[in-house]
Amino acid sequence: MRTLLEPRLVDPSAAEPGLVVDVRDERRALLFDLGEIGRLPPRVLLRVSHVFVTHTHMDHFAGFDHLLAVGLGRMPRLVLWGGPNFVDQVEHKLRAYTWNVVQRYEVALTIEAREVSPDGRGRCARFDSRTAFTRGDEAAFTLDDDVLHDEATFRVRARFVDHEMPVLAYALEEKARVRVAPDRLAALGVTTGPWLRELKHAVLTGAPDDLPIELRWRDRDGEHSMVRPLAELRPLVLDVVAGRRIGYVTDLRCTEANVEQLVRLLTDVDLLHIETVFLDEDRAHALRKNHLTAAQAGAIARRLRARALVPFHFSPRYEGRTGELVAEARDAWGGSAECEAEVKQLKPR
Ligand SMILES: [Zn+2]
Ligand SMILES: [Zn+2]
Repeated sequence: MRTLLEPRLVDPSAAEPGLVVDVRDERRALLFDLGEIGRLPPRVLLRVSHVFVTHTHMDHFAGFDHLLAVGLGRMPRLVLWGGPNFVDQVEHKLRAYTWNVVQRYEVALTIEAREVSPDGRGRCARFDSRTAFTRGDEAAFTLDDDVLHDEATFRVRARFVDHEMPVLAYALEEKARVRVAPDRLAALGVTTGPWLRELKHAVLTGAPDDLPIELRWRDRDGEHSMVRPLAELRPLVLDVVAGRRIGYVTDLRCTEANVEQLVRLLTDVDLLHIETVFLDEDRAHALRKNHLTAAQAGAIARRLRARALVPFHFSPRYEGRTGELVAEARDAWGGSAECEAEVKQLKPR
């Protein structure tokens, strides 16, 4: 069925990190990481409302400048999330440029930078183009469990994993979706129309049973309309299914502590994007670099009972051999007992 959130890797070859998610019906998008986003067309970048950065290694944050350059004078607001010291780092990025004419731009840009630390405390600050991006409006907050961002149709949760530095692993969760059973619609003698959106919204927001809903539709006999209370439509026409859950996990060591964080965040995830940087034959090197091998990534996906797997962030050393990385991850995910045992045996650091 049609989904609200449509994710795709920023780099179709999957070598570079980054995920862009279309929020359908809202003409807006979310970004996970700010790497080589230059390959995304400006019309996509201009829709970005929120960016969730895993950590500020260059391959995950150097694209900030590009997003800013595209958005200046055209984008009204941008919210950026990151880990410890992220607000300072956004400020440093902004202070590296000269802003003597920016206040003349027709569309002013407000950047809201928000950071969290592993203890669940966070702080935010605002940078406004009208004041040459001077830092202001600072505030502190505490996370509600692991929820970073929550709105009517989706939420974003995050937990820290270790990469010899704290890195955020993300879960993007669509809230419940309302599914319409066509045979029940037919039994009621109506067809679909814009009224369905109103009905879905009423169901999802827990509107009262007596809420009148006007059904308007058109068929070969012309226009029709009738008013029914929500209570009457609810059981006849709809059922509600859990929304899709999407994981974005990159830059971490294969440790039991990390896997436990991912289990809390992403068990039974529908679609898991996970780094597969090295082949398992290079696992000693992967450990030194604080990255996963493809087999480790696949074994983690298996432990999370991920329903679909998207490997990405391939080391350039495998140029021309990335098929091997994907195959190794998929084999481990598909159930090599050896890999599963390996992940179970991992010791906390
Ligand atoms: Zn990286
Ligand atoms: Zn990194």
